[in-house]
Amino acid sequence: MIIVMKPRTTQEDIDRVVEKVKKRGLDTHVVSGDEMTIIGCIGDTSKLDPKLFEVDPSVEKVMHVQEPYKLANRAFHPEDSIIDVAGVKIGGGHMAMIAGPCSVESTEQVLEIAKSVKASGANLLRGGAFKPRTSPYAFQGMGLEGLKILTEVKAETGLPIVSEIMSPEYLDVFNESVDLIQIGARNMQNFDLLKHLGDINKPILLKRGLNATYDEWIMSAEYIMASGNENVILCERGIRTFETYTRNTLDLQAIPVLKRMSHLPIIVDPSHAGGKWWLVEPMAKAAVATGADGLMIEVHNDPENALCDGAQSLKPHTYHEVVEEIKKVAAALGRPF
Ligand code: PEP
Ligand code: MN
Repeated sequence: MIIVMKPRTTQEDIDRVVEKVKKRGLDTHVVSGDEMTIIGCIGDTSKLDPKLFEVDPSVEKVMHVQEPYKLANRAFHPEDSIIDVAGVKIGGGHMAMIAGPCSVESTEQVLEIAKSVKASGANLLRGGAFKPRTSPYAFQGMGLEGLKILTEVKAETGLPIVSEIMSPEYLDVFNESVDLIQIGARNMQNFDLLKHLGDINKPILLKRGLNATYDEWIMSAEYIMASGNENVILCERGIRTFETYTRNTLDLQAIPVLKRMSHLPIIVDPSHAGGKWWLVEPMAKAAVATGADGLMIEVHNDPENALCDGAQSLKPHTYHEVVEEIKKVAAALGRPF
């Protein structure tokens, strides 16, 4: 249930209504926008009588929220959320341009890529240190050594870093060194891991599971938010379909749909969606055209010899050209960056 307060409500009015909700054993989530204040009621609201609140002179209206997700619900927070990642704003018109290799391989490799993508317009650097590989015999990532390399490159280039966590065991070290902590597609429903993310306040990049519905995906965001961390950014990265030509199928409908369901920013990863480097440009442009709040693109200085995902990685000069094309689309739609 949400309680919409009348314009120009005082703090005293808000406190009074919040107290009334809490007395009935429920929790509240207050969002004060420029236009209005909304009090979200969290818990079992089925026994709450809307009339109890409608009689309050400062209450405009009371609405029941049918959806099982509350904190992530657009109804709870009508304005777009803007997430701050080490000074880089994402959402509400601010674009995240995340680029970098699939996996950290060496300091030289990450540094060279970071410098070039930064010059091309990237504002965040990605690099996997812990890799969720299908085969146990494939390169598993450099682990903690990889995180150290990312930290060094951040110090040299100033680019905040994005990296995937796979186990709560490393939460402290990720909290210390990573600016945007990625939950990969395979862990989207690792509920224990999601709950642990509430122990920290670092922004989380939640990728869509390989076969997750919109509801399942948003409920995973709700898990993180309900455990105390509301800094969540969604990432569409393609889903499994019957098509085998491409690695996955990019679901562009997810962008307008999730924006309607939720206030959270949503970005697109065209690299893992198509699995082919030449599909990145057209899909990135389409993602921006459908309203994505950013792009995560894999870039490698030597894709032919990459330890992971070389076939979908752009060379640095191609990334530069792709960013220029993306900017044209964004400008044509009145959302220049
Ligand atoms: C990645 O970003 O490197 C990755 C493994 O992505 P996903 O979880 O979407 O497969
Ligand atoms: Mn990858």
